[in-house]
Amino acid sequence: MTPTQTRIPAETHGISLNDLSDNARFVLERLHEAGFEAYAVGGCVRDLLRGRSPKDFDVVTDARPEQVKRLFKRARIIGRRFKIVHVVFRDELIEVTTFRGGDVAEVKRADGGMITRDNVFGTIDEDVWRRDFACNALYLDFASGELVDYVEGLTDIQSGRLRVIGEPESRYREDPVRMLRAARFAAKLGFHLTDDSERAIAHCRETLADISPARLFDETVKLLQGGAGRQTVLELKRLGLLEYLFDGLATWIEPNDPASDWDLIEAVLEATDDRVAKDLPVNPAFLFAGLFWRMLGRHRIHWLHQRVPADDALVLAADEVLGVAARRLMIPRRLAEIIRTIWALQPDLERAAPAAGAKSPKTLTDEQRALIDAPWFRAAVDFLCLRARTHEVDASVCEFWRKHAPERGSEEEQPVEALKPSDFGKKRRRRRRRRSGGNRQKAGA
Ligand code: ATP
Ligand code: MG
Repeated sequence: MTPTQTRIPAETHGISLNDLSDNARFVLERLHEAGFEAYAVGGCVRDLLRGRSPKDFDVVTDARPEQVKRLFKRARIIGRRFKIVHVVFRDELIEVTTFRGGDVAEVKRADGGMITRDNVFGTIDEDVWRRDFACNALYLDFASGELVDYVEGLTDIQSGRLRVIGEPESRYREDPVRMLRAARFAAKLGFHLTDDSERAIAHCRETLADISPARLFDETVKLLQGGAGRQTVLELKRLGLLEYLFDGLATWIEPNDPASDWDLIEAVLEATDDRVAKDLPVNPAFLFAGLFWRMLGRHRIHWLHQRVPADDALVLAADEVLGVAARRLMIPRRLAEIIRTIWALQPDLERAAPAAGAKSPKTLTDEQRALIDAPWFRAAVDFLCLRARTHEVDASVCEFWRKHAPERGSEEEQPVEALKPSDFGKKRRRRRRRRSGGNRQKAGA
């Protein structure tokens, strides 16, 4: 494809290098001073053009990963399939990629066309064809402040259009996660997928089964905690993608069917969107506990019918439900433990609360005090209160515990409760360094 580059001057496009974070500007400047090309690219440019503050900043350059690494004190190369450099700052991580290039046809692929290794470097006018959507393929040039557009990305942003670059079906087959990204961007930005970008999903969605459960988990967290989780789940459902994330659950998510699990799941997603909007910490355990709660209930009833004691039935059901979830998503063990704890606390909290209509006692019982001190008590109460909202539990039970558990994120919040998405997501520094960086970063374009 012959690339035609349009350069839009700063006065026309209206965003400025000053809109970038200090760290992003520092990275761009360093690259520029070392004689390299340096651009801010992707979601940050898109979001700035829409007048939104970006979630993070991505940088692209002609410097090779090793050259980038040498320029910064705290930088490391991660990834195998797709090498990138993480430049680490105290509270921010800037991802620096080198222009992808070469002949896309020669990139190493699995049988179905999926790209398995992709470290051929190139120039900006090769890189652009490797990006996913036109609205994500705008480059802000540090040298001139100009916007570089090859694919009418600016028009798409202005008109709210989500369009795969190139031939949608082969682009989805190269990297099936792009279909999930389509749902995420459509929901989050309120953009409309073009007809061919949408139609191709129906032909390609099965290839999602080839994505590793580790990467799928990371993507799922981004889908649900991106700030528009409710809308994203509806979009995934509409596009027929939900079942590739949640085995056996997708059929229970039916917005128009009051007998489905949707009312509770919607409440959990809305609560999460609300917290993201307020910049409060969000805990994926809370989300997953909510998503699978009703399913847990169905499994639990099965065991109760087998005359298994109630507490054991809950443990067995939790094993089963998390086992089913693990077919698609690799839920980290630490997270699974928290999910179990939130679940296990539900019947305890219901049992230990004063009966509905009873006067609130002056002193707490030993059992009540023990529950208040239990790990994940606040998250469990938050969840209990969502269940009260959907009339699963009496409102008085929520009110009683709420008195002892200010909502998560309030001033009384214990640090241990304040799990950030970064504890599970990709963008910031992980506490434990993985040896090779694994394959959990974004895919090779
Ligand atoms: P967000 O606001 O979620 O950060 P983003 O568009 O910046 O959205 P990133 O995952 O940060 O998404 O990726 C940065 C850029 O890298 C994208 O805008 C896109 O140009 C490119 N990219 C990321 N993932 C892929 C992919 N799977 N295929 C092709 N291009 C991709
Ligand atoms: Mg980004």
